[in-house]
Amino acid sequence: MTFIPDFKPARAQPSPNHDARATPIDILLLHYTGMRSGEAASERLCDADSKVSSHYLVYEDGRVDQLVPEARRAWHAGIASWKGEADINSRSIGIEIVNPGHEFGYRDFPEAQIDAVITLCRDILERHDIPPARVLAHSDVAPGRKQDPGERFPWGRLAASGIGLWIEPTPIGDGDALVPTQRGEDVTMLQTMLVKLGYAAALTGVYDDSTRDIVTALQQHFRPARVDGIADRSTIETLRRLLTASSMVA
Ligand SMILES: [Zn+2]
Repeated sequence: MTFIPDFKPARAQPSPNHDARATPIDILLLHYTGMRSGEAASERLCDADSKVSSHYLVYEDGRVDQLVPEARRAWHAGIASWKGEADINSRSIGIEIVNPGHEFGYRDFPEAQIDAVITLCRDILERHDIPPARVLAHSDVAPGRKQDPGERFPWGRLAASGIGLWIEPTPIGDGDALVPTQRGEDVTMLQTMLVKLGYAAALTGVYDDSTRDIVTALQQHFRPARVDGIADRSTIETLRRLLTASSMVA
């Protein structure tokens, strides 16, 4: 059934994959499509059998389709968690950004596409009460399972337009790092900081696979120059400064 787009410049391209929201909207969740073409992604997101959808699809040339009305719950997050809440679909608006992704040839997002994403996000943020620290990557809410929109996504450019939480990452340098399989209080402290930002980390005191996946997600969003799952000084310091910045804008 067709509908009038919430974002006026968008073209309505209805997907049947949605249901009722259980909570108010307070997260904006960004994805890449991870498919060979935008057309293939559109087909999948509108196919009743796929059971997936998003509110918006932004093509590489800047065209925007709206697939699901914002008032409805689209199916884009899957098994996910942020700040201890699991039904991310109920509380979020999802934007799929066309890019082949890590599987099919990950590449830079074209200028026209990012301009369109910025215009769309600003429009959404004007209409909904979504704090900057809740403009998130799919990888943030599903670390290990998802890596979109990935380290090539220009979060700094979005922040310069007033979208999302961002600080210039601490430069990569020397110094001790926390590494996989390590144990101890320093690891618990790292996990505690990750939880404070919103990640679903368990305070085990062991740098286990889950911790490595979350550090990888943190790097893909906030320290994209090196994505290796190792909590080096730059990663830890950037995380610490993010926590300070988020407490100031929350
Ligand atoms: Zn995704």
